[in-house]
Amino acid sequence: MTTRDTYPILSVEEARARILEYVRPLEAESVPILDALGRVLCVDVRADAAIPPHDNSAMDGYAVRHADLLDADEPRLAVVGKVPAGAVWEGTLQAGQALRIMTGAPMPAGADTVVRFEDTVDEGDRVTIQRVPKAGRNVRRAGEDVEPGTVVLTRGQTLGAAEIGMLASVGQAQATVHRRPRVAVLATGDEILPLDAPPEPGKIRNINSYTNAAQVLALGGEPLVLEVASDREDSLVARLQSAVEQRADLIVTSGGVSVGDFDLVKQVLASEGNINFWWVNMKPGKPMAFGLLKGIPLLALPGNPVAAMLSFMLFGRPAVRKMLGYRQWGLPQARARLAEAIERKDGRRHYLRVHLDETGDGLSARLTGDQGSGILTSLIVADGLAVIPEDRDHLPAGEVVDVILLRPEEFWSA
Ligand code: AMP
Ligand code: MG
Repeated sequence: MTTRDTYPILSVEEARARILEYVRPLEAESVPILDALGRVLCVDVRADAAIPPHDNSAMDGYAVRHADLLDADEPRLAVVGKVPAGAVWEGTLQAGQALRIMTGAPMPAGADTVVRFEDTVDEGDRVTIQRVPKAGRNVRRAGEDVEPGTVVLTRGQTLGAAEIGMLASVGQAQATVHRRPRVAVLATGDEILPLDAPPEPGKIRNINSYTNAAQVLALGGEPLVLEVASDREDSLVARLQSAVEQRADLIVTSGGVSVGDFDLVKQVLASEGNINFWWVNMKPGKPMAFGLLKGIPLLALPGNPVAAMLSFMLFGRPAVRKMLGYRQWGLPQARARLAEAIERKDGRRHYLRVHLDETGDGLSARLTGDQGSGILTSLIVADGLAVIPEDRDHLPAGEVVDVILLRPEEFWSA
């Protein structure tokens, strides 16, 4: 029998470290480069050719031989043709000649400099150069961006828009990245109704499957949303079996992990697999278990929706990010001054939902109101989660604390 005392209560950091011990970056797969956006590269990428591949004009103007421009104040040259981007002018520019050249077109043999149209007067088959540039101006040299054979992207790098552009520039339509984790998401509880079911007395709608699946998606994982399990061992076992059959890389359950008469998730985890830990010294979210089920890491989150979301942020997110190949999983944080004093005497680390206000003197954090772990609206109005250390039972107003940013883009300047 699983008893409460068998399992020591862990700090958030200890719990996270234990989980990450059992999680590895997933194997590589090759995907079209746009599907690789936000993912982590598994291989070094080298340039197969120089970028740009040939000397070319950086301006619309005339390709010239700089030596021809040195004798007169306003030299005149014979215009021998024109070359658009995408074409090649096959001849060799001779003394006294100029070639009309468009941005990106290859430099003709013999030419070394481009004079911008703005510095010339067009006279049909002749051109007058009104301002003589320095030798070599307005020419982009072959290989000036990348020499052939250079490593342009290294394994472990996250692919953003610029990196995807670099893959395109070296001719790669596919990228080799870590596979997306499949995360089975299971809500448990006799009271949990699927969204398409009519309301019934004593029942509530399923929130956690959606908050968990949404977080998995936002991280770049693939959620597998399982049918809700009832509070019976056979129902839980059947659902977990389906997660195994669907080859989940991670299983995230919610509910049924506390000490209630029908909280059976950790019993099932103990009988079907093994439990690594059960309690975490935090609030909300103290009852949380972790273990392995048929070799698959299983994170048993608490049922209250705020506790479930926060626990996913602190523990599920790092696991998913590690599987995706990221090497860091810290949440975006800022420092803020408490607008009010805070008393917390239970020795747990608290994550308090706060509004943030910009003041002349940094951010100020104000509680959103009821901090109940079932108050989902608190997460909708909150800008962040103030982290109250476990060893502090009284924090005066004005004390500076860490705040996990729920909307980092709105507080980027903080
Ligand atoms: P439990 O730990 O299973 O007792 O769940 C704690 C609380 O969270 C109970 O009030 C549950 O009704 C609620 N809860 C559990 N699972 C969900 C869910 N999927 N969606 C919304 N509320 C839930
Ligand atoms: Mg329950």
